[in-house]
This record gives sequence, structure tokens and C-alpha cells, in this order.
Amino acid sequence: MNPIEILHNEARDCRKCGLCASRTQVVFGDGNPRAEILFVGEAPGQNEDLQGRPFVGAAGKLLSDCLGRIGLTREDVYIANVIKCRPPENRNPKREEIEACRPYLFRQIEIIGPRVVCTLGNFAAQALLEEKVAITKIRGRHFQVGNFFVFPMLHPAAALHQGNLRQSVLEDFQNLRAFLQKDLRPAPLTGQPPLI
Ligand code: URA
Repeated sequence: MNPIEILHNEARDCRKCGLCASRTQVVFGDGNPRAEILFVGEAPGQNEDLQGRPFVGAAGKLLSDCLGRIGLTREDVYIANVIKCRPPENRNPKREEIEACRPYLFRQIEIIGPRVVCTLGNFAAQALLEEKVAITKIRGRHFQVGNFFVFPMLHPAAALHQGNLRQSVLEDFQNLRAFLQKDLRPAPLTGQPPLI
């Protein structure tokens, strides 16, 4: 078993927060375990909870479509969520659920070692940047966190709820393509302990 499979197995029986009582299964993440680009969404929805894979519902279809528009497939990237279990009725994740699940996300990042972590929506941006930030203010910019870049983007589900955001979601992917083409490398860490 490779390290990501070992971590996946560890997460399968997780009981670190109350969501273990209502989930069908843990939705750990999937894709290329050596991906340069890792996408982080918010939390599994109903389809994900049933299938055990992230982004398999309507938002996932849009995500796959957006990836295709910039020449990527789901097999090129890795896809995970801030929290790995579905919140009942798809409510927002609670602070204690995010805290309980954070080590899984950071260990996924550590094992995969992406150059760019694309956060989808507010919860993911806040989980990675560790401050309360409005996605609308920071989308399209990049931030070095530890030895990778965080690239905040709108959540594709935003376009499903508000049709007028579809163009903005597509724009974020075009901006991601432009950012990737620059092929920037994170600056070496000097002195401060790595974040993960
Ligand atoms: N599906 C996921 O896996 N994550 C989201 O954030 C939304 C839909």
C-alpha cells in the first residue's frame, strides 16, 4: 500500500467528530497521488456520501468540465475536501468538525506534495489560509503556505445556485491556467518551521 492508501484506511473508521454517526462512508479523496495540483472542496454531499468519491454530483460534473477547458482531467489532479464526511442536510461544516478533520487534509497535502493547492469556496480557503477571508476578495491571487501555493477559487456549486456566477467560475479556471503556465516555484522556507 502506498502512503495515501494507508492514510485512507486510517480515515475509514474515523470517529473524531459527530459526523461519523450520520455518514454512509468517509469520502477521503481521489485522483493522482503524485499530482502537482490538488483541489480542496468543502464537504461531501449526498452523491459523494453514497459513492465514497468527492465531486461526483452536479458540482463535480461542472468541476470536470472546467478542468477539461484548461486541458486537465480528474486523473491529472487530486481532489479532496476540507471535511471527509457529509454534514446532515448539507449544512455548513462546524468549526469543531473542520478542526477534527484538518490533520487528514494536511497529511494528504504532505504525502502528495502538490505545488498548487486550489481551494474551492470560502471554507477551503479559510482552512488553508487559516484566517477569515472572503473568497471574492482573494480569488485569482496566490499565497505561499509552507512549501506550496494556495490558489483560491470560487466553488463550482456557486454557479449551480447562482447562474450569473458561471462566468466567474470559468474565469477562475482560466486564471489558474495562466498561473500554472508561469511555472512559479515556492520560495525555499527560511528558518520558520514548515506548516505541515
Ligand atoms: N462535492 C464535494 O465532494 N465537495 C464539495 O465541496 C461539493 C460537492
